[in-house]
Parts: sequence; C-alpha cells; structure tokens
Amino acid sequence: MGVHTRGRWVWDDLQVDWAFSDRTHGESSGAYAQANLGLHVGDDPACVGANRAALAAMVEVGEDRLVTMKQVHGCQVVNVEQAFRAPPTADAVWTGETELGLVTQVADCVPILLAAPTGQVAAIHAGWRGVVVGVVDEAMRALAQDGVTPDQVRAVIGPSICAGCYEVGADVAEQMAEVADASTARTRLGSISVDVSAGVVQQLSRWNVQARVVSGCTFEDPTLFSYRRDGVTGRQAGVIVRRSR
Ligand SMILES: [Zn+2]
Repeated sequence: MGVHTRGRWVWDDLQVDWAFSDRTHGESSGAYAQANLGLHVGDDPACVGANRAALAAMVEVGEDRLVTMKQVHGCQVVNVEQAFRAPPTADAVWTGETELGLVTQVADCVPILLAAPTGQVAAIHAGWRGVVVGVVDEAMRALAQDGVTPDQVRAVIGPSICAGCYEVGADVAEQMAEVADASTARTRLGSISVDVSAGVVQQLSRWNVQARVVSGCTFEDPTLFSYRRDGVTGRQAGVIVRRSR
C-alpha cells in the first residue's frame, strides 16, 4: 500500500495516527491499478480485500478493525464502536474507541480526518455536494455533543482535485458559494470551477479548527486515483486510528 502522507498527533496520554494512501503498491490491475480500496467500482473483490488488508497493516490495525462507509454525498454522521460487516450508509464516522481504523474513500473528493484531545477521531468524505449539505458541520456537531471542545480539534485534509482542474457548471459554483464563498474559483483556462478543499477549510474555520491541507491534486498526480480524469477508476483512502497506548 503506497503512502501519500502520514502523520501522528500526540497529546499527553493520547496518540492518534493518520494516513492518506495513494494508488501504488497494490494487487489491482487495469483501471484499478494498483491499490484500489473501493469495493463498488467494478474491481475484483479479492484484490480490494488484499488492498484493504494492506491498508490495515499500514496503520497497524487488524483487517477486521477497518470501518468503511457506503458514501452517498450526504451529511449522515455515524458513531461507531466496532467494525461492521456491512458498512453504514454515511459520509462521516467517528469513534472514541481505540485501534479502530476509520476510512474515508476518495478519487477527487476531499478526505478529512479529525481528532480531539478527549480521544474522539473522525473520518469524513466531502465532495462539492458534501460541502453544500454541510457534512463537516454535522460531524463537528456530533463531536461537540460528545464533549469535544471544537477549537481543540486537529484536522488534516488529504489530496483532492484542485480548483485549477475542476471545471463545474455555474449552478454548482453558486450552490457552493452560498455556503462557503472561499470555494469560488476559476480553472487554469479561466472557466468556472470550485475549490472544494478551500470550502472545507472555511467550514472548519467557522468552528475555529485550523486544518492542515496536504498538498497534491488527484487530477494531476498519476499516483492518485481521479474520477474526473479517468472515469472508471479506483479509490484511495484517508484512515485515522486512536491508539490504545
Ligand atoms: Zn489540479
């Protein structure tokens, strides 16, 4: 499993590990080469299983401790205490449990990972629709209701499609501008685009959460999956784990 970027957050007696994968070093072939983690994109399930096992190994959790979601570009937030046999339909999951790997899968959308000093961790999937429906706000609300002080949350945002590459229709740009005007952008050729990552950063900043944005554009970087570039393609992931030590 190829690693795009990984990191560790440490508080006094709390450690959280996070990582973003890339498409290298996996078992899948063809359009899904090599490290596709998406089960519902047409790839061989055996290859996806092997890749998910490698993702689990990358963050040192058991294969049966990965929590994936059936992502639907909505704002459903699910609290998980264990890995499910069937992934919940959601675009954000959070837990206070240890050694559980929360996974968000993307191929241009924005993967967001959060952790709080009180021990909660979250994984969020947000495309432009997710920004419009406010999935980040819903996740922050859920954490706040569990006792998290919002401005103590740490956030990291993984690689997604950049504004220079992401041409959209005026209707999409208008919907995004209504909720997050920082998303307003133009492509390199001057046509209407949106900066989804900037929209997410703005939404987090309203909670006084300063996000680290990992550099990289999925459309431009051949080591990353891009739906806009390739259509039929795989998914990379962001994964976050609260450690028990
Ligand atoms: Zn780009």
